Amino acid sequence: MTTEQMRDGQKYDVIVVGGGAAGLNGALMLGRSRRSVAVIDAGAPRNAPAEGVHGLLGREGMPPAELLELGRAEVRRYGGAIFDGEVVAASRDDTGFVVTLADGGTMHARRLLITTGVVDRLPDVPGLREQWGRGVVHCPYCHGWEIRDQAIGILATGPMSAHSAQLFRQLSDDIVYFTHTTDLPADQAAELAARGIRVVEGTVTAIETADDHITGVRLSDGTLVPRASLAVGPYAVARGEFLTDLGLPLAQHFSGAGEHIPADPFGRSEVPGIWLAGNVTEPFAQVGASAAAGAMAGAQINADLVAEEVRTAVATRESFSALAESEVAELVGGESRHGL
Ligand SMILES: Cc1cc2nc3c(=O)[nH]c(=O)nc-3n(C[C@H](O)[C@H](O)[C@H](O)COP(=O)(O)OP(=O)(O)OC[C@H]3O[C@@H](n4cnc5c(N)ncnc54)[C@H](O)[C@@H]3O)c2cc1C
Repeated sequence: MTTEQMRDGQKYDVIVVGGGAAGLNGALMLGRSRRSVAVIDAGAPRNAPAEGVHGLLGREGMPPAELLELGRAEVRRYGGAIFDGEVVAASRDDTGFVVTLADGGTMHARRLLITTGVVDRLPDVPGLREQWGRGVVHCPYCHGWEIRDQAIGILATGPMSAHSAQLFRQLSDDIVYFTHTTDLPADQAAELAARGIRVVEGTVTAIETADDHITGVRLSDGTLVPRASLAVGPYAVARGEFLTDLGLPLAQHFSGAGEHIPADPFGRSEVPGIWLAGNVTEPFAQVGASAAAGAMAGAQINADLVAEEVRTAVATRESFSALAESEVAELVGGESRHGL
């Protein structure tokens, strides 16, 4: 039976929850290790609104959906199964884990690789969400080149926003920093001023657009500050609520930029048998870093399974040896009793 044919009632070596860059690269490593692997994917990668993936060697500018389609084909080439669906619960059973899907189906695996990414919580400003990933951006490395030399606004959301403004300043001379609802410390104000970044105080009430392009930032006093694009730092929350009962609650990321599920550099979580990769554990990981983390976790899971199989093989061999020895002893004893 190929893994494509397995689902309910079948046990996989590994279930990968989430089929973005991290999950697919993890599944690729596992498929190439001749592991039965199933990817369950809800189909909402973080960068879906973006027109292209940037900063990715060999695939620079490729549309996100196209990149994932290539990845899915590569996983299938090595026998990996990919299911569209959403995991809503996970629990342990005698030999591993059971995951429950939103459609009520269940699947079993010896190990779990969680690569569910994050949800970006955005400031509640009218017009902002509609432009997310296009006119409203968050990452100078993902979209900075595309908006170079434009009139860029920075909508402050916290202590990292001044740093973000300085990064975008590398790409344009025309940066306006909107304090919005935040306080701007004096040292950061001095740094912004030193690099020619204008600070505008006051609450932002709307992002104005025309023909689906940003035209300006509206303030509560009615002022419109003309801008062509806006940078904002989202609060990134790991998609992993279904892991809480297994002992993996969300934790604050050290940066303050969101909530993640911690893992070691190899992807190992605090719960044996569960591994994590990509944005779910590191919200700053870009596509290349997420894919690399998935590949690392996939290789580590295979090594963990091999270690388990070695232990089982040794135990089986020893019990056979013990059995054979006792049978020989019985035979020898029987022969001597019969005077042979
Ligand atoms: C607007 C925007 C533009 C970006 N542009 C770039 C760029 O140009 N270059 C770059 O390198 N990075 C970019 N990034 C960052 C990039 O999106 C991430 O690095 C990357 O998506 C992380 O990959 P991942 O596999 O960890 O998560 P994701 O790509 O988010 O994939 C997670 C997958 O898991 C699925 N999932 C979630 N929960 C469940 C569940 N319970 N059951 C089943 N499936 C589930 C989701 O639907 C999704 O398909 C951008 C981010 C944003 C927000």
